[in-house]
Amino acid sequence: MSLANDTAGYPDTLLLIDNRWVEATGGRSIEVLNPATGQAIGRVAHADVADLDRALAAAQRGFLQWRDVSAHARCAMLRRAAALLRERADDIARNLTQEQGKPLAEARGEVLAGAEILEWFADEGLRVYGRIVPARDLAVQQMVLKEPVGPVAAFTPWNFPINQVVRKLGAALATGCSCLVKAPEETPSAPAAVVAALVDAGLPPGVVGLVFGDPAQISAHLIASPVIRKLTFTGSTPIGKELAALAGRHMKRVTMELGGHAPVIIAEDADIALAARCTSAGKFRNAGQICIAPTRFLVHERILKDFAAAFVEKARALQVGNGLDAATTMGPLANARRITAMQALVQDACGRGAALVAGGERLGSSGNFWAPTVLLDVPRDAQVFNEEPFGPIAALQAFSCIEDAIAEANRLPFGLASYAYTRSLRTSHQLARGLEVGMLWINQPASASAEMPFGGVKDSGYGSEGGPEALESYLNTKSVSIMAL
Ligand code: NAD
Repeated sequence: MSLANDTAGYPDTLLLIDNRWVEATGGRSIEVLNPATGQAIGRVAHADVADLDRALAAAQRGFLQWRDVSAHARCAMLRRAAALLRERADDIARNLTQEQGKPLAEARGEVLAGAEILEWFADEGLRVYGRIVPARDLAVQQMVLKEPVGPVAAFTPWNFPINQVVRKLGAALATGCSCLVKAPEETPSAPAAVVAALVDAGLPPGVVGLVFGDPAQISAHLIASPVIRKLTFTGSTPIGKELAALAGRHMKRVTMELGGHAPVIIAEDADIALAARCTSAGKFRNAGQICIAPTRFLVHERILKDFAAAFVEKARALQVGNGLDAATTMGPLANARRITAMQALVQDACGRGAALVAGGERLGSSGNFWAPTVLLDVPRDAQVFNEEPFGPIAALQAFSCIEDAIAEANRLPFGLASYAYTRSLRTSHQLARGLEVGMLWINQPASASAEMPFGGVKDSGYGSEGGPEALESYLNTKSVSIMAL
C-alpha cells in the first residue's frame, strides 16, 4: 500500500489524485489524534483549491474511461479490491482503532463487512438492466437505458470510516461513475486504505479520488463545479440541509444519510432478556456513535423495572478502555466534542427529574472515555429525548398503550432506524404500518446488510445506501425510440 510516511506503525495520509498519492500543493496538513490517549499519531494532507481543481479534472477523465468499461470488468476489479481489503484487514483495523477509538474486534469487523459490501455492489452492477417497452407501431423499438450519472462527490464521516465510504464507492463505481471522496480528517487512514485497495486492484486513474481539508470549502467548491453530477453525504442533519440547498442551487442529484434518534418500543409481551441483550449491544457498539443506534427507549410501564434492571446489568458489564486492549468492549468517544455533548445531556436530563441509574461521567483524565450511561424516567422535554445523543447514553421512559408509543416515536422530525420487541404479530404489523421511519427491526438487532435498503425519511434524509435502490440513485434514465426504415 502506498500511503507514505509510516511513523510508529500509523501512516500519514496523502491526497489521491490521478492514482498518485500526493502532498497538498501548499504543503499544509492536519494533525490526527488518538482518542484513547489524546496524543498526535500522524498527519493528513490539507487540500488547496488547486488540488481540488486537479482532482475534479481527473474525476472527469476517469469517468469518460470508466463508463466504457464493461460491467463484468468493473465487477472483477471491485471484487479484487474486496479481496485486498480482507488480506490487509489486520493492519487497516489497527490503524482504524488508533484514529477512531473503537475496539479492535469492531474495527476488524468493519473492514470485513466493508469487503462484503463492496462485493455485493460489484455483483449488483451486473444487474443494472434497462427495459424494452412494447411500442404502438411494430416498426418502432422503445428502450429504457440506464446510464451512470457522472462524476460523484462523496462526503463521509468519522464514525464508520470504512463502512460509509464503501457504500458510496460501491454504488458509484459499480454503475460506472467516477467518485471523488472527501473523507473525515479525524479518521483518514481507514478510508485511504479502501481507496488504496481499489487503486491496487487496477482502477484507471481518476476513477477514484480522495481529498481532505476544510469540509465547508471542499463541499462548496465541488458541488458548484460543473464536473460533479451527484452529491452523496453522510453526517448531521444541519450540515445535510446546507449541502442539499447548495446541490439544489446547482441542480445536482443528492443522497442524504443524516442523523436519527431511533425509538425502541418494548411492548408488554416482549422477551425482556432478548430485548436487553440486543438493545444494549446496539446502544454501546462504537460507543453509541451510530446513526441507527437505539436511543429513545419506550418501555411498557408493567415491565419497565425488569427491563431497566436487565439493561443496566449489561451496561455495567462493559469494559471501557483503549480499543487496542483485547479486554476492551467499549472504546473512547471519537473526539472531545462528544464528551462535552454527553456532559450537557446528562446534566439537562437529571435537572429535569430523570434518574441516573448507570454511568453519567467521564472516566479518567486523558482520552475521551465516557461511562455507559442509563437514564430512567426521562421526561419528554429533556434534550436527550429530542437531540440525537450520538454517544453511550440510553434514555428510558414508560408508556401505557402502544398507540402512545407510536405517537411518541413519530413526534420528532427524524425518521431513520427503529426497533421493537413484542411476541404479537398484530402489534408487529401495527408498528410496521405506523412508524415514520426508513428502517424497522423487530425482535432483533440492526443487520444493515448490503442487499436491504438503508436510509431515512423526514429530517433523516432521502435516498438509500443499500439494495438496488442504492444503485438507482447513481443512474440516469434515458428513453430511446428507434424506427426501423
Ligand atoms: P458536524 O455536523 O460538524 O460534522 C458531521 C460530518 O460532516 C463530519 O464528517 C464533518 O467533516 C462533515 N462536515 C461538516 N461540515 C461540512 C461541510 N460544510 N461540508 C461537508 N462536510 C461537512 O458534526 P460532528 O461534531 O463531526 O458530529 C456530530 C453530529 O454529526 C452527531 O451528533 C451526529 O448527529 C452527526 N453524525 C452523523 C453521522 C451519521 O452516520 N449519520 C456520522 C457522523 C456524525
